[in-house]
Amino acid sequence: MKYVLVTGGVVSGLGKGVTASSIGVVLKACGLRVTSIKIDPYLNTDAGTMSPFEHGEVFVLDDGGEVDLDLGNYERFLDVRLTKNNNITTGKIYQSVLEKERKGDYLGKTVQVVPHITDAIKNWIESVAVIPVDGKEGPADVCVIELGGTVGDIESMPFIEALRQLSFSVGPDNFCLIHVSLIPVLGVVGEQKTKPTQHSVRELRALGLTPHLLACRSAQPLLENTKEKLSQFCHVPIGNILNIHDVPNIWHVPLLLRNQNAHHSILKQLNLLSIAAPPNLQAWTKRAETYDNLKNSVRIAMVGKYVGLADSYLSVVKALLHACIACSLKPSIDWIAASDLEDESAKLTPKDHAAAWETLRNAECVLVPGGFGDRGVGGMILAAKYARENNIPYLGICLGMQISVIEFARSVLGLKRANSNEFDSETPNPVVIFMPEGSRTHMGSTMRLGSRRTLFQTPDCVTSKLYRNAEYVDERHRHRYEVNPEVIGVLEEAGLKFVGKDETGKRMEILELPSHPFYVGVQFHPEFKSRPGRPSALFLGLILAATKQLEAYLNTHQNGC
Ligand code: GLN
Repeated sequence: MKYVLVTGGVVSGLGKGVTASSIGVVLKACGLRVTSIKIDPYLNTDAGTMSPFEHGEVFVLDDGGEVDLDLGNYERFLDVRLTKNNNITTGKIYQSVLEKERKGDYLGKTVQVVPHITDAIKNWIESVAVIPVDGKEGPADVCVIELGGTVGDIESMPFIEALRQLSFSVGPDNFCLIHVSLIPVLGVVGEQKTKPTQHSVRELRALGLTPHLLACRSAQPLLENTKEKLSQFCHVPIGNILNIHDVPNIWHVPLLLRNQNAHHSILKQLNLLSIAAPPNLQAWTKRAETYDNLKNSVRIAMVGKYVGLADSYLSVVKALLHACIACSLKPSIDWIAASDLEDESAKLTPKDHAAAWETLRNAECVLVPGGFGDRGVGGMILAAKYARENNIPYLGICLGMQISVIEFARSVLGLKRANSNEFDSETPNPVVIFMPEGSRTHMGSTMRLGSRRTLFQTPDCVTSKLYRNAEYVDERHRHRYEVNPEVIGVLEEAGLKFVGKDETGKRMEILELPSHPFYVGVQFHPEFKSRPGRPSALFLGLILAATKQLEAYLNTHQNGC
C-alpha cells in the first residue's frame, strides 16, 4: 500500500479536504485505484452527536457510519463507498485501547499514548487502507490520509507520531507527505508572505515529518520568487510547490493540480511512474467549464433550521448542484430560516417574516431538508402547505417528509393537533411516532442508520419512473421517528399515496401526491449518494418539475433508456 498523507498548517478551513480529494481524483485519473481515510483528532467517537450549527452536516455512509462531511467530498470526488472505519477519531482510538485494557490484553503493562495509542492508530490505518471501496476486489493502490486540524495542535500529536512511525515502517517509496498551507498577502504592496508556511513546515519537521510537496492556498497565483523562497526555506524542490489559488468552482482544483504536474511529483515519490498513465480528466474539465458558462438559473427555496451555515446541508447543496448541471442550470438557492415564516415572527420580526414569505413566493421549487428538534417546525409546515396548495414542486427529505404528513393531516384531514411525537408527546393524533427499535437514553448511533431497501408499491408513480422503473432503491437513512403505520389508511383515502415502503411493508419510505405536479417526501436521504455526472433521481425530478420539463423527461426516459 502506498500512502499520501495530507496535513495542514497555519490556519484551519484551508480546503484541505478538497485538496486531498482532488489529489485522489488526479491519481485515479492516472489509472490508479484510490481509497481514503480522514482523521479527526476530536474526542467524539463519531460525528453523530455533533451539531450541524457548529460542525456542518453529519454525513451518513452505507454502513450507517455518521461521519465528518469530508468523507462526503471523498465519496463524491472519487466515486467510492467508504466505511465508518475510514473516519478515525481520537474517541474511536481510545475506546478501542481502553476496551483492550479492560479485557486484560496488555498483560499487566502500563498502557501509554506511546506505544499503545500510536500502535492502535497505525494498525487502524493499515487495516482500513486495504478495504476495497470502489466496487472492485482487492486493495487500492494508494490511500490518501487527511489529518484534520492544524499541525501543532495538542490533540493531533499522537496521530503525527503514529504517522511518523508509519512513514518509517513503510519506507520512503511508499509514503508521500503533502502539506497544505496558506500564503497570505499583506499591506498595500501586496507581498505574498511565506513566513507562516516556513513556521508550520519547521513545526512538522521538528515532529519528524518532512513534506515532499507543498500545496499553497492563495487568492492569486503564486509569484515565481515566492515559490523560490518557499523551496529554499522549506526544503522542498521548486517543482513540488503546488499552488491552489482561488478558482471559480471546486471542480477546477484537480485540473489545477494536473496542470502543475502534481501527479508526476507524487508518482515519482511513490515510485509509481512506470505503472501510471497520463491523467485523463476529460469529464472533470467538461464539468468545470460547463458550470462556469451556465447562464440560466433555477430558484430553490431551502426551508430549514440550520440556514446560517451553508455546510450544515452540504450534501443537499451538492445534490442540487449535480441535478441542476444535468439540466444546464445554475442553482440559485434561497435560504429561508423556517422560523421566519411563522406567525410569531410577523409580530416579533416583521421584516424577516415578510422577506421570508417573499422569497418563498418567488421560488420555483421548495425543499425541506432533514433536521432534529422542534425549532422552525411551524414554518416548515407552512412552507409544505404553501407548496401543496399552489402546485409548487416540493421535496421533503426525512424531517421534510414527516412535515408533509403532519401538514396534510392538519389541513386535509382536519386534525388540528396532528403532530410528531418528537415535537409533542401528548398529541391526540400522533401521525409520526418514535420507532420501536430506537433508544431514548443514548443519542450516539442509535437511530435507524445507513443503507436500507425501499420497495416501490406501484410502477405508476413519479418516483419509480425517476429511478428508471426500478423495483426497489437502496438509500441511506438517519432517523428516530417514522410515519405512524396506523394512519396510512386515512391519509391514502384522502389522496396522499405511500408509494415506497420498507421490506416489512410497515415503514413508510416515499410519499407522493398524485394530484400535484411534484410533491414528494422521502424518509431517506437521497443527497448522500448523488454524484457529479450521476445526480440523484429525486433531486433531478425536483429541478425538472421546477422548470416544467419533468413530463417530457419521463416520457423520453420511460423504458429506462
Ligand atoms: N427528527 C426526525 C427523526 O428523527 C428526522 C430526522 C432527519 O431528518 N434526519 O425521525
